[in-house]
Amino acid sequence: MTLDFPRAETVAPAKGVFIDNAWQPLASGRTIPVVAPAEGVVFAEIAAGGAAEVAAAVAAARAAYEGGAWSRLSATERGRLLSRLGQLILENAEELAALEARDCGKPMRTARADIEAAARYFEFYGGAADKVHGEQIPFQRGYYVTGEREALGVTGHIIPWNYPAQMIGRALAPALAMGNATVLKPAEDACLTPLRIVELSVEAGFPPGAINVVPGYGHEAGAALSEHPGIDFIAFTGSPRVGVMIQTAAAQNHIGCVLELGGKSPQILFEDADLEAALPVIVGAIVQNAGQTCSAGARLLVQRSLWDRLMPRLAERFAALRAGLPTENPDLGPIISAKQKASVEAFITRAEAEGVPVIARGARAESAPEAGFYVPPVIFGPVPRENGLAQQEVFGPVLAAMVFEDEEDAVALANATEYGLVAGVWTRDTSRALRVARRVRAGQVYVNAYGAGGGIELPFGGVKKSGHGREKGFEALYEFSALKTLVIKHD
Ligand code: ADP
Repeated sequence: MTLDFPRAETVAPAKGVFIDNAWQPLASGRTIPVVAPAEGVVFAEIAAGGAAEVAAAVAAARAAYEGGAWSRLSATERGRLLSRLGQLILENAEELAALEARDCGKPMRTARADIEAAARYFEFYGGAADKVHGEQIPFQRGYYVTGEREALGVTGHIIPWNYPAQMIGRALAPALAMGNATVLKPAEDACLTPLRIVELSVEAGFPPGAINVVPGYGHEAGAALSEHPGIDFIAFTGSPRVGVMIQTAAAQNHIGCVLELGGKSPQILFEDADLEAALPVIVGAIVQNAGQTCSAGARLLVQRSLWDRLMPRLAERFAALRAGLPTENPDLGPIISAKQKASVEAFITRAEAEGVPVIARGARAESAPEAGFYVPPVIFGPVPRENGLAQQEVFGPVLAAMVFEDEEDAVALANATEYGLVAGVWTRDTSRALRVARRVRAGQVYVNAYGAGGGIELPFGGVKKSGHGREKGFEALYEFSALKTLVIKHD
C-alpha cells in the first residue's frame, strides 16, 4: 500500500549512498519520500539503495579492513576517532535533535536526550577501544598460550526507525572500536540523523571505508546486505519476522548474527511497592517514544490486593496525557507512519471489540495537526491472560494491566509470552525482588526502577523471541570480535 502525502514547501533532496567517505548518486536515481509523522507531509527524500550499492559498500569496507588506512590504526587511534565523533555530535546537538524530532515525531526534549545518548555511545566505545585485553591460558609445560580478541572483518548492521540516532551509535561504535569496517542499512521510515552523523564522521577523521551507509527499503537494500557473501557478521534490530530472514541469510553465509527483536516486557508490582516511585516510571515506560520502544514496559502485572488502590491513580495520570507536536514538548508524539498507526489502532479496536475494559485514555493535543499520525495513550485492564494485548507486541502507547495472586503466579505470568527482553520488579522486600528477578526470563531485570532505552553501559538483549546476543556495554565489544587462541611452544 503506497499512500501519497502532500509535500512541504521545501523538501530536502536525497543525498545518495555513503561509500568511501563520500555521497554517491544512485545509478537508478530512485528515491524514497520521508514523511514527518507529526505533520503528515513529505519533507525530505532518501536514496533507495539496492544490491549494486550494497555490493559497492561491502567492497569499500573490505578494502578498508584489509590493508586500508583504517586497518593500520591502533586501538588508541580508533578510540580517539570515536571520541571525536561523539564530541562533534554534541557540538551539533541542537541541529541533530531538531532533525530527529521532525523525522520521528519525538518531543524535542526526548530528541535532545537521544542525541546525547548517541554521543555517549561513541564516547563510551571511544574510551573502551584500547581496554579490551586478551588472556593468558595455563596449558601444558613448554607452551605459552594466549587468547586475543580480534575484529571479525566487515560487519553489516540493519537498524530500525524508532531511535535512529541512538541506533547508529549502538550499532557502529562497538564494531568500529574493535577494528571492524562497517556497512549500515538504516530504516527507510526514519534515518536522517544517521545520514548526518556519517558526515560528521568524515570531519572527525575516519578514513574512507570504515563507515558505509546504504539507505533503502528493507526488502531491497536490507535483504541484499544480509545475504551478501562479503560480510563477516550481521547485527539486526527489528521485527521477529525479519529476524528469521536475517538469521537464515546468516546461516547461508556461515556467519554469526546478533538479533534484537522486541518484547512484551512486564513490570511486576507487589502490594508493598513504593507507588510514589513506581507511578511515573510505569507511565514513562509505555509513553516514551509513543510506545515504540523494544523495551517498553507494555504489561503491568499487579498483585490483586493492590489493584483497587493503584488503578484510580494510574487512570488519573493516563487521562491527563497528551499526544502532540514535537516542538510543543507534549507527553508523547505521534506514531512513526500511517501504516504503524493503523496497526496500533487495530490492536485497540480488537481489544475493545473483545470487551477488554478501558481504564483510561489520554487525548490528542488540540494543536496537533489533523494529518499527523497521533494515537492517544490508553490503559486496558484487567486484560485476560490469553488476550492478544497480553501476548503481542503493539509498538504503541497501549498498556495492558493484568492481575496476579502471589509470587509464584507473578513469575508464571511474567514468563507467559514468547518474548524475554526486559522486566521490572517493584517491591520493598529485597529477598523477594531477587528471587523474582532470577526467575524472570529476560535479558535485563530492574528492581524498583525501569530503564526503557538508554543505558549505554548496560549489556542489552533478549531471550526467546526477543532474540539473542548482547549489545551495549563491554558485551558488544565481545559480540563484534572473535577470540583467537595463540599457542606457542618453547623449550
Ligand atoms: P519494524 O517493524 O521496526 O519496521 P522491520 O523488521 O520491518 O521492523 O524493520 C527493521 C529494519 O529491517 C529496517 O531497517 C528495515 O528496512 C529492515 N528490513 C525490513 N525487511 C527486511 C528484509 N527482508 N531484509 C533485511 N532487512 C529488512
